[in-house]
Amino acid sequence: MTDTGGETLSNLLREERRFPPPPELAAAANATAADYERADSDRLAFWAAAAGRLDWAQPWDEVLDFSRAPFARWFVGGRLNAAYNCLDRHVEAGRGGRVAFHWEGEPGDTRTLTYAELTAEVCRAANALRELGVTAGDRVAIYLPMIPETVVAMLACARIGAPHTVVFGGFSAEALRGRILDCDARVVITADGGYRRGKPSALKAAVDEAVSACPDVRSVLVVRRTGQDIDWTDGRDVWWHDLVDAQPAQHEAEAFDSEHPLYIMYTSGTTARPKGILHTTGGYLTQVAWTHWAVFDVKPERDVFWTAADIGWVTGHSYIVYGPLANGVTSVLYEGTPDTPHQGRWWEIVEKYRVSILYCAPTAIRTFMKWGGDIPDGFDLSSLRLLGSVGEPINPEAWMWYRKYIGADRCPVVDTWWQTETGAQMISPLPGVSVCKPGSALRPLPGVAAEVVDDAGKPVPDGSGGYLVLTEPWPAMLRTIWGDEQRYIDTYWSRFPGVYFAGDGAKKDEDGDIWLLGRVDDVMNVSGHRISTTEVESALVSHPTVAEAAVVGATDAMTGQGVVAFVILRGDAASAGSADAEEVAAELRAHVAKEIGPIARPRQILVVAELPKTRSGKIMRRLLRDVAEHRDLGDVTTLTDSSVMDEIRGRLPAGG
Ligand code: ATP
Ligand code: MG
Repeated sequence: MTDTGGETLSNLLREERRFPPPPELAAAANATAADYERADSDRLAFWAAAAGRLDWAQPWDEVLDFSRAPFARWFVGGRLNAAYNCLDRHVEAGRGGRVAFHWEGEPGDTRTLTYAELTAEVCRAANALRELGVTAGDRVAIYLPMIPETVVAMLACARIGAPHTVVFGGFSAEALRGRILDCDARVVITADGGYRRGKPSALKAAVDEAVSACPDVRSVLVVRRTGQDIDWTDGRDVWWHDLVDAQPAQHEAEAFDSEHPLYIMYTSGTTARPKGILHTTGGYLTQVAWTHWAVFDVKPERDVFWTAADIGWVTGHSYIVYGPLANGVTSVLYEGTPDTPHQGRWWEIVEKYRVSILYCAPTAIRTFMKWGGDIPDGFDLSSLRLLGSVGEPINPEAWMWYRKYIGADRCPVVDTWWQTETGAQMISPLPGVSVCKPGSALRPLPGVAAEVVDDAGKPVPDGSGGYLVLTEPWPAMLRTIWGDEQRYIDTYWSRFPGVYFAGDGAKKDEDGDIWLLGRVDDVMNVSGHRISTTEVESALVSHPTVAEAAVVGATDAMTGQGVVAFVILRGDAASAGSADAEEVAAELRAHVAKEIGPIARPRQILVVAELPKTRSGKIMRRLLRDVAEHRDLGDVTTLTDSSVMDEIRGRLPAGG
């Protein structure tokens, strides 16, 4: 991507550190090199075998029907129940006493739920939803904090065939209303409030406001979490503890068609207005269960697995709820933020529950880097054996820090590329097979077909960059954008005929391994050179004073676009005065020029305290571009904290 003509502007491809799998892990790994061979020789047979990990009430007639491409049907004719696969079958097999979740509330309250207890609770909630008149196919919106009821609510919906749409507890009433209306949900499940940074924060009030403009919502089911005062609408609002606790703990799970809708999840909105991504049952659960088993090498009898992400993000759906439960694994579920009440909270949780596998986002890792390695050093992290990353390209320095300070230089780090749309992991190392490279997701998982292509859709040779595409359908693929088939075709299947356009830039190195370079929309064009934001950001983060960086291309009369960088400094560098800030900026500009080339030297560097992020922790570069080009901000409904943008605007000199 960074390359036009012969000149190479790549710092990532100069990364030469290599990490082979630990021999003990490789010797007992769930997935082996043979999985690649099996999938290469017969992709559909490979996925059919993976589907065999699930319990089907009725077997499928055909693995894939893609005759109406790009609309796919997987495991055609098969019938199953997702909740039964996540719960009852483990209990029936005598594993009901195994812990499903160790839940840790932010204020320090805890709950442990075994598979048997979770099954009973889901059955009660399923009966309760039926009593509210919810039937198969009805949509249910879930707007809850990170509490066990969130998982229960999702599985209760799945159990009765009502697609759920989970909306981040941090979103505004307006964002919630938009999603309720878009998918026409009739029931909303919420709580009085949740804990965030040590304080109860209201949820029910936002639901009241949102629903005031949603005439078709007939019931609001309310979990009591904080005990704070709330308004109450008789006839519409129902307490969870009144309705659910009174239900029988038995519920017969009906089997649904493999293509029955399981949920609608709205994308992060990093590049555009959020899209309602539809996932269905059989293919989704197959790929989520297989990848969770293979990429995390889970051993259900002894691992304690922790995805430290919000359930309101697809990562939470696939790797807190559906994957781990389908595999019968014990997980940790944590309600709060990493620095409440102290910056060692995550490590305290790892120590307490003896977490063996941790999965989180680069934004969290860079935050921990900013806080310093002394903090995790104060805890016993010896239970960890595998680390994962997801959500953004991971800068090589952040990868190295994660491996060293959290993984004690012995845990493999798997960088997993995927999207809300892909439903499950697509490009990632296999921890018992792959030789890892800091900053690279390496190669497509078995059964996945990915390529990097040029403008004309032709595969690029090793050593060059282009657009990431998926060339064959995969089981967990989105089936459409809810209510908008044309947008589904236009967004994903029109840029290159017959293949799925991911919207991300990528590069293949000399070994053919894949390095993700960020969004195609974010690629800058400086004097005819295409420069990826990821590479400039990784160069900035490799400087010892920088904790985090976001780079955008702003219109420039001379060069077409100019590189504008927003940086957050590490601990002591951050407290320096404004004269120093100019010095730092000059030094960083020189550093980028040295690491990548003079053409990538930022025109402007602004030292800021925070960056605009989505709730899933992704940097919203399009808002920074709006600021750099002095425009009004676009859709901000998925921004965590809108005051961040005012702060940043204040730092930008007029006309700059
Ligand atoms: P929208 O599509 O509304 O702009 P979004 O793309 O941010 O939102 P998600 O589906 O949550 O919503 O994010 C998927 C994107 O996250 C990918 O397209 C990619 O850009 C990025 N991503 C996820 N994992 C990785 C990874 N391991 N390496 C690089 N990028 C990643
Ligand atoms: Mg996207």
